[in-house]
Amino acid sequence: MPMSAKKQRLLTPGPTQVPDEVLRELACPIIHHRTDQFRSILAEVGELLQRVFRTEQPVLTLSGSGTTAFEAAQISLVKPGSKVITVASGKFGERWQDVYDAYGDLLSVRQIRINLPWGDAVQPERLGQALAENPDVSVVVVVHSETSTATACDLQAIADQVRAFGQDALLLVDGITSVGALPIEMDAWGVDVLVTGSQKALMAPPGLGYVALGKRAVARLAEIKPRGYFLDLRKWLESWRENDVPFTPPVNLIRGQRIALQMMLDEGMPDIWARTANMAKATRAAFEVMGLQGVSIRPTDSLSGAQYPPGIQDAAFRAALRGRHGIHIAGGHHGRGAQWKGKIFRISHMGHIDGDDMLAAIAAIECELRAAGYDGFRGSGIDSGRQVLSP
Ligand SMILES: *Cc1c(COP(=O)(O)O)cnc(C)c1O
Repeated sequence: MPMSAKKQRLLTPGPTQVPDEVLRELACPIIHHRTDQFRSILAEVGELLQRVFRTEQPVLTLSGSGTTAFEAAQISLVKPGSKVITVASGKFGERWQDVYDAYGDLLSVRQIRINLPWGDAVQPERLGQALAENPDVSVVVVVHSETSTATACDLQAIADQVRAFGQDALLLVDGITSVGALPIEMDAWGVDVLVTGSQKALMAPPGLGYVALGKRAVARLAEIKPRGYFLDLRKWLESWRENDVPFTPPVNLIRGQRIALQMMLDEGMPDIWARTANMAKATRAAFEVMGLQGVSIRPTDSLSGAQYPPGIQDAAFRAALRGRHGIHIAGGHHGRGAQWKGKIFRISHMGHIDGDDMLAAIAAIECELRAAGYDGFRGSGIDSGRQVLSP
């Protein structure tokens, strides 16, 4: 059977499945971006993003991936000669440390690294202590939902710690697999900078990165000299004020994102958060009776991870899921803190998916574990997953 004849379910933690309504919008004829028509689309996307981010502050739309957006925030907001606190307990936290390393000479900043075992989440008090010991910190970087380890930190408590410390430290949050999936309140919690990308929970194709800037972050931009060119957030903020962007944008992606955001807000953020949490709960319940160990001390709800039982080969297992069931999930990563490639698999609960997709995936996982000779089942994953989803 050709691959295309089988229904495909993209359950990787990015990119994620895109609704047909969004795909159709992508096929619109290209319009010029310096037009009233495009400016009104961009303005609408900006307003919809504010509602998804739960902020009244600017949310900038950058061309590029989530990394483009986060790197732009990192380099645009740090004070020269200051310190930054960077938390890493997975691949993405490590990446943001690498970014500051890459700009080391240019920015002359010193990193205070809080490195934790993969699968762990930083204790808010630990951050508070680091802030108290280092009064000249200008930026704190945390990953809200660490996708490589399927782990979430307590962002609200972390924001409280940073707020308690005082005026100078801006809290930069990688919300790439939390915005649109986990409860998050940018303004109410006092998050200074919140970043995500189009291809995770926002139900659009890869290619756009979003940076929300709180008041203190906007003030910081006015305070320091520009650095970088494309990544200089001052340019993007100035354009944003005129419903514009500084460089030619991927016009149709932005059109598609508008439709996806409208669909999200029609469902409502609290309902999305509840649906996501429920899918996570069902998946974890299924893994449990299937005898699969998790990977995280503080699991996120935007995706779930499990360790492979002995004898299951990652590449062959995921190929069987794709080939025989049309189910696409992700493997693990290698990093400085752990070597999880080939050892774990991860399945997304983000975006345009529902409980039935989860049950299809659980059934396929159960079937292929059995086919590979695994016999550690304590019960039926499908049954326990279904009980959570439709009690
Ligand atoms: C996917 C992801 C990134 C990287 O985003 P890209 O769009 O691939 O650049 C960063 N952080 C987290 C937590 C992610 O899940």
